[in-house]
Amino acid sequence: MNKTIPDEIVDAIRSRCNIVDIIGSYIPLKKAGSGIWKALCPFHQEKTPSFSISEQSQNYHCFGCGKGGDVFSFVMEKEGVEFSSAVHLLAARCAVVAAENIPDKRMNTAEPAADNGESAGDPQK
Ligand SMILES: [Zn+2]
Repeated sequence: MNKTIPDEIVDAIRSRCNIVDIIGSYIPLKKAGSGIWKALCPFHQEKTPSFSISEQSQNYHCFGCGKGGDVFSFVMEKEGVEFSSAVHLLAARCAVVAAENIPDKRMNTAEPAADNGESAGDPQK
């Protein structure tokens, strides 16, 4: 697995994107208590809501099918995309950073090609 997206971007998105707003844009939510929201699970068929979202921990969990996670895994699951796409999508949604500022699979950045093309695992700039 290549880790192309810096943690600070992921953290910025996580802190700016309220999971309640994001999930609420996909499915209708009902407030079920202080910081707790419930919904019909989007990942399995059900008649009574067992899908719950915690605003405090910014996590969701379905007691019916067992799916759970954070805002990124929700988008990945719901949109059927991989992590980097979910990050791009949420970055655009929450206006954290312009999507083109997020390094993605070796796209050309503003820099001209560097001399040392193969810099696998180099944490420095
Ligand atoms: Zn479920």
